[in-house]
Amino acid sequence: MIPYGRQDISEADIAAVCEVLASDFLTQGPCVPAFEAAFCKLTGATQAVATNSATSALHLACLALGIGPGDLVWTSPITFVASANCARLCGAEVDFVDVDADSFNICPEAFERKLCAAERAGRLPKALVAVHMCGQSPDLEKISESARSRGINIIEDASHAVGASYLDAAVGSCRFSDIAVFSFHPVKILTTAEGGLATTNSPELAQRMADLRSHGITRDPSRMRFEPDGPWYYEQLALGLNYRMTDLQAALGLSQLDRLAEFLNRRRELAARYEDGLSELPIWLPGRVHGADSAWHLYVVRLQDASCRAAVFTELRAAGIGVNVHYIPVYLQPYYRDLGFREGHCPVAEDYYARAISIPMFAALTETEQDYVMDALGQALRKTI
Ligand SMILES: *Cc1c(COP(=O)(O)O)cnc(C)c1O
Repeated sequence: MIPYGRQDISEADIAAVCEVLASDFLTQGPCVPAFEAAFCKLTGATQAVATNSATSALHLACLALGIGPGDLVWTSPITFVASANCARLCGAEVDFVDVDADSFNICPEAFERKLCAAERAGRLPKALVAVHMCGQSPDLEKISESARSRGINIIEDASHAVGASYLDAAVGSCRFSDIAVFSFHPVKILTTAEGGLATTNSPELAQRMADLRSHGITRDPSRMRFEPDGPWYYEQLALGLNYRMTDLQAALGLSQLDRLAEFLNRRRELAARYEDGLSELPIWLPGRVHGADSAWHLYVVRLQDASCRAAVFTELRAAGIGVNVHYIPVYLQPYYRDLGFREGHCPVAEDYYARAISIPMFAALTETEQDYVMDALGQALRKTI
């Protein structure tokens, strides 16, 4: 089976992890701060907080921004459930902004329209979780214009977008946001097995996220309420969690970062080959956002005839291609239906969902494999239409 996405682990990656295994620190050693520093360098953000997953980083981002019961958070329906769950975990309500048909990212015009309606109803969101769907930035310049004039915070869910750029700045620079979050799950651009990281330019937000990542505990005497009664003394200042990344994970991430440029080049080559090879088929290829250079985490094609999506999907699976669908609109999940959401809430997202198939896209995909995927897709379409 050719999967839709897969990690690429080198001998150097294995050696880097083994070195940590034989060292004094499996966790809370030197590798995590080094990985955070590497991400500051990569993104240009001044602060980075590594975590055990992007889900944890999104939760910390919401907590650091003070999101809680009574607040409202908006996000995209075309994303992994964690983009919405982070706000629910804080007790906030969630709503969804419809996407742009071509980029599958939040549509800036739909966002502005929804904000105007929310303003009239007297209930603006406290924050927007803006997703970089497939690795391509949303139109954050327009989106942040609408959000910032109304005091709305922006968290970028850049789980798909390690190494992507937008308007000549690296994604994660937080030029248009408060916090940006990355994922290092094995199917993403680079991996730490499980892992995530938040970047920000706010030392206060970074401090809050770092505190909450580790039980809300500080060992820094200058931040303590009471005089230490000995060198063992620490204080719990807030209610936190254990969301720490291990040094094993950070070592793997640091080693993978050495090949980030190679990974991205390969994904861009594969995207260009798909664009050439699939242009004659009755499908729509991903559209480009002005000023955005995608990391190409996913390659999603949309069938012009939605009625044959299931058949084409089944044909491709039978041909040994691990196609997938990203994503079922989040609000159609039973958990969100139980909160009152129904079909028709975001019509563009639902139309997208009816047509979408993710075809293989990962750095180790060979051209022979890719040609096979393109042939199989063409055959499946001819057979089912
Ligand atoms: C993968 C993913 C997450 C969650 O990442 P984990 O590291 O697995 O917790 C969140 N948001 C999006 C858009 C993702 O694709």
